[in-house]
Amino acid sequence: MLTKNSLLNLNWTKTNGMIPAIIQDYFSNEILMHGYMNKEALLKTQKDGLVTFYSRTKNSLWTKGETSGNYLKVIKISTDCDHDTLLILVVSTGKTCHLGNVSCFFSKKNNINFLFELEKIIENRKNKLLTNSYTSSLYKLGTSRIAQKVGEEAIETILAAMKKNKNELINESSDLIYHLIVLLHDQNLNLNLVLNNLKKRRKKDSSINP
Ligand SMILES: [Zn+2]
Repeated sequence: MLTKNSLLNLNWTKTNGMIPAIIQDYFSNEILMHGYMNKEALLKTQKDGLVTFYSRTKNSLWTKGETSGNYLKVIKISTDCDHDTLLILVVSTGKTCHLGNVSCFFSKKNNINFLFELEKIIENRKNKLLTNSYTSSLYKLGTSRIAQKVGEEAIETILAAMKKNKNELINESSDLIYHLIVLLHDQNLNLNLVLNNLKKRRKKDSSINP
């Protein structure tokens, strides 16, 4: 949270006592919405842990979710380099946009978010085994079968590359990535742990080009 000092250090005069606040999803990093806060709205946001804006049309404070029930729970508030914009990390309790979208900047899901969404489905299929789900059937067969599938898909990926068949390479790579995520979750691991590891390696080897 912002300290009292950084609150006072915000550049309130530049924007006539109203500071833009960008709301970002804590899990997916997606930008959810944007609004304005006066000092009172920011203090209330800090105190309640729920995002409260100042409505310029209604001339009053409004806590996001007070009518829809889709609140924005504050994880972290920070400011930009000029201290005239807020970035608020949140966990949303429902769809943020009044049009029924996750984000007010609704666009096609970016690919990395899609990958996390796929991962969530895989984890759900593991926790609640469905009779008509391929993923569930893999978890029923157990680790050795899942590991074997990863091996098979890796070999098929290699063969597609050797044949220089681009379509087949895309298809086999998709199978490989999917089965790899299944295997990670079979071992109670997840994609983020792998991504963090890659990031760590990149930092260590920043002198070497990947
Ligand atoms: Zn919206």
